[in-house]
Amino acid sequence: MYKTLEEHIRKQVAPAALRAEFRQHEFEAMRPFCLLIFCVSIVIWLVFDLIISYLGGQGFTWLSGVFIAALCSLTVVLAFTRRSHHFDVLNLLFIAVITLGMRLLIDGIPIELRPVWLVLGVSSVLYCVSVAPVRRWSFFCAMAITWVMLNPFLHTHIDALELEGAMLLSYALFLSGLVTYSYLRMRLAKLHNYYLSKVLLEQAYVDALTEIPNRRSFMAKAERQLRHAAAGQYLAMIDIDNFKKVNDRFGHDIGDEVLKRVAGHIKACIVGHEFARLGGEEFAIFFDGLDQAAAEQQVSTLCQRVRDDLAQHPVTISIGLAKVARDDSLSLALVHADQALYAAKHQGKDRFVLWAEGMGG
Ligand code: GH3
Ligand code: MG
Ligand code: MG
Repeated sequence: MYKTLEEHIRKQVAPAALRAEFRQHEFEAMRPFCLLIFCVSIVIWLVFDLIISYLGGQGFTWLSGVFIAALCSLTVVLAFTRRSHHFDVLNLLFIAVITLGMRLLIDGIPIELRPVWLVLGVSSVLYCVSVAPVRRWSFFCAMAITWVMLNPFLHTHIDALELEGAMLLSYALFLSGLVTYSYLRMRLAKLHNYYLSKVLLEQAYVDALTEIPNRRSFMAKAERQLRHAAAGQYLAMIDIDNFKKVNDRFGHDIGDEVLKRVAGHIKACIVGHEFARLGGEEFAIFFDGLDQAAAEQQVSTLCQRVRDDLAQHPVTISIGLAKVARDDSLSLALVHADQALYAAKHQGKDRFVLWAEGMGG
């Protein structure tokens, strides 16, 4: 089943809105990691700066201070960045500054050592960019900036047509290709996983027939609202009257149509409150922040709406309404609503009944 669904998702071209949602989600998840990469990059740059300044006999200059200040400022900006498209630009700025800093450091070491350190620098930066949550344009710009700033043919003795130059050129092509391929593949795999999780989550919390929330969704949401215990919470249990007869007379398919129609009425009528199909021909609504008169008004309107729907196979519904007291658990509230529903059925159906003490006994 998982494989079938995965296959189906792979074939789908993800819509632009979903891609944007995925980018934002991924950036939020990876922001601490990006901050870590920025900080570690600054520390590594500083360590090399100190080595070259003192062991290389160059001395620590004010320019190092400027670079550290610029890189730290960009890291602070990242700490406050919330949107993924801002990070696309911020990351480029950071790469431009740090690769310029790396170029200046490497230009301070003996000329024969420079090519290898330039290529090591490029490899490290490109690896970091390939795992960063950036869009394609930002990735390719980062790659271009890195190769321009740390061009191993600039300020070195290497000729592209000689042995070392030809080897270097081949390696540059190989490295760029490998990094680009892994960046694109990883992004696509992550996008598919995100899409797949979304689809599976939706299926787990939405009723397949009526396309309204299911029992699992209702229990989780109602439980959460119950914990935030606002004043005026009511639980309604709804049951279609004589539904077995609809199935017996007209068949299961018509029964399904009736279920969809009733779900449609609940969806249209109940705005701003949680509702669900609990199973079979039973539905529930959790009213939050209503007084008794308002809750009664809502269920009475719903009863009437279903009654007035003179479709080919008209039905009516019965509703049990229970006030959720401050310390009531969700299961106790459901028991109360069920007892009230039972009373509504006994009083002749097509009505709502408010739960009262003694109904259970
Ligand atoms: P009452 O007025 O007392 O509620 O009577 P009822 O006939 O509605 O009650 P009962 O619980 O006996 O019948 C419920 C029926 O709902 C039984 C079952 O076959 C049917 N049912 C449950 N789930 C589905 C479904 O998904 N589709 C269809 N078509 N029928 C379903
Ligand atoms: Mg029933
Ligand atoms: Mg019924």
